[in-house]
Amino acid sequence: MADLRRKTGPSRPLGELTEALRRGERRVTGPRLAILQVLREHRRPLSNKEVLALLPQGYCDLATVYRSMHLLRRLGLVQRFDVGDGVARHELRDAGHDGHHHHLVCRRCAQVVAIDCCLLEEVERELSRHSGYQALQHRLEFTGICPDCQQR
Ligand SMILES: [Zn+2]
Ligand SMILES: [Zn+2]
Repeated sequence: MADLRRKTGPSRPLGELTEALRRGERRVTGPRLAILQVLREHRRPLSNKEVLALLPQGYCDLATVYRSMHLLRRLGLVQRFDVGDGVARHELRDAGHDGHHHHLVCRRCAQVVAIDCCLLEEVERELSRHSGYQALQHRLEFTGICPDCQQR
């Protein structure tokens, strides 16, 4: 089976992101740009605390990350993902399609891996044919025990 995990590394070109910020008529401030860069590098849903920890030490405080993330979400640059543990996590929204993808969540530490492809398109087509329903959508999350937690 092909490696379904998202390729790490750059996703959307940063210029495109900053352009989107400008279209939102906001200044591209340091923290906003820095947060986008962190999300670009890591390509999985991160909590505000995780984002803060990945920024240079003393760069900004948690309240700034929180406010910036809120704005980035309003601008449609990031989307929220809830694991169900009460912690808000955000990831970059993909350009070019609706951003539909799946996640794999560790049941012990709640680490999240984003899965690039959708395995259910064929299933949706079959369902549509049998049921007569159209414009099908689905939500599906996978859980498991991550490699780190297996070591512990
Ligand atoms: Zn884990
Ligand atoms: Zn899917």
